[in-house]
Amino acid sequence: MDMPAPNAVVMARKQKIVARLASVLPRDAVIDDPAETRAYECDALTAYRCPPLAVVLPSSTEEVAAVLRICHEEGVPVVPRGSGTSLAGGAMPTADSVILGVSRLTEVLEVDYDNRFIRVQAGRTNLSVTGAVEEEGFFYAPDPSSQLACAIAGNIAMNSGGAHCLKYGVTTNNLLGVTLVQMDGTVVEIGGAYMDAGGYDWLGLICGSEGQLGVVTEATLRILPKPEGARPVLMGFDSSEVAGACVADIIKAGVLPVAIEFMDRPCIRATEAFAGAGYPDCEALLIVEVEGSAAEIDEQLGVILQIARKHDPVELRESGSAEESARIWLGRKSAFGAMGQINDYMCLDGTIPVSALPLVLRRIGEMSKEYGLGVANVFHAGDGNMHPLILFDANKPGDLERCEAFGADILKLCVEVGGCLTGEHGVGIEKRDLMNVQFDPADIEAQLRVKDVFDPKWLLNPAKVFPLAATASRRAG
Ligand SMILES: Cc1cc2nc3c(=O)[nH]c(=O)nc-3n(C[C@H](O)[C@H](O)[C@H](O)COP(=O)(O)OP(=O)(O)OC[C@H]3O[C@@H](n4cnc5c(N)ncnc54)[C@H](O)[C@@H]3O)c2cc1C
Repeated sequence: MDMPAPNAVVMARKQKIVARLASVLPRDAVIDDPAETRAYECDALTAYRCPPLAVVLPSSTEEVAAVLRICHEEGVPVVPRGSGTSLAGGAMPTADSVILGVSRLTEVLEVDYDNRFIRVQAGRTNLSVTGAVEEEGFFYAPDPSSQLACAIAGNIAMNSGGAHCLKYGVTTNNLLGVTLVQMDGTVVEIGGAYMDAGGYDWLGLICGSEGQLGVVTEATLRILPKPEGARPVLMGFDSSEVAGACVADIIKAGVLPVAIEFMDRPCIRATEAFAGAGYPDCEALLIVEVEGSAAEIDEQLGVILQIARKHDPVELRESGSAEESARIWLGRKSAFGAMGQINDYMCLDGTIPVSALPLVLRRIGEMSKEYGLGVANVFHAGDGNMHPLILFDANKPGDLERCEAFGADILKLCVEVGGCLTGEHGVGIEKRDLMNVQFDPADIEAQLRVKDVFDPKWLLNPAKVFPLAATASRRAG
């Protein structure tokens, strides 16, 4: 008897899986036309692409559970996806996987102002969580720059941060509970609308687990009363190292600004051309924001301005109005878009101790010359969360590879000075092989065993987070 051609086998399997998925979801929630699945072939790390087998868009926890049960029975890998803004390739599919998108899970399920929490479906965008409570004077603190688009699900998976996380912490510090669907379709509740759930700290484990352990469908989030007021100050310096030293001194002084953001000259120039925020033409600038009552703001800014003056700033501009504050933030908020207009870039994400900022900024400048590739720095300096943007030309042969090697050297430097590979963007595919730099084999094996427990068949978000060589035998089943 003739064997069917491999393509025919693949097609028959695809048809069977799609038919089973369509039996538990509305037909428009299952996408298998290659012209449409292309929209899901990458996330914001666009250098890497692969169309999935199919895409499903369930509308409830029950539908998510039904999808996972089928994929578990069929041995089909599943890639959870929020809004696809990951910069680490975390939501990129493999050719044999089903993308499980949560973009239809957008409801607000409960708001409790007395106990300061909101419960939402996990596909709701970050900014619209604040949108749901701001009329009552509340907000949700973690504020990634992508907050207009990114989903709470992705924020939880990546333990995302943002400009204002210096004071309020990142997602894990603002997450109270999740509904998690495991790969076999079992639904579990973890944490809830109260501080510190009993039992193991599963919530701490799930937050930042990059879609490796289950699919989050609902989240209970802490909401906070809006501060009385806030005031940013713009500081310009004639060297990045001096700006870095100023950040280290502010942190050392024990004042706690709500944000300390850093931009260097290439970034300042690009954002000025793009947004015209009126930034000074200098080597580096800081935006330092404090909040509280007028008296608290004056007191904190008094200390901060005194420190800044010791570093000979070329500009010190304290905001005097809401319009001026918005203008100070305008350039920073448009920095990524502005850089994207003029160059291909790869956005890195590593953390370092704040005191190492001057050294690391100097080394990045030196490496930029060694590699012959430009670099622009824009990052959350108060947390020591660096985001060097390496500039390259995607159409120039060899440039991407050089850019990756440069990026790997920067991340190794972060680890060397006592920091880590990722502050908020996650490991994804981008840094999976660098995990060996941060962890020794026993550390990695311990992490793999955690996944063994939640996902024994290794079907969830395959080939991410861990070095490929360390997971090959598990992924092969
Ligand atoms: C311009 C720009 C600016 C950015 N600024 C910041 C910033 O300031 N701070 C920051 O932290 N990040 C930032 N990011 C990165 C990105 O926005 C965050 O990582 C964000 O949390 C991703 O959310 P998402 O919904 O787009 O997730 P996706 O990209 O869709 O997925 C991200 C990861 O989450 C997993 N996942 C998605 N949904 C689920 C689910 N339901 N259950 C389990 N796992 C799931 C995916 O498998 C993947 O591993 C930025 C990105 C861009 C493009």
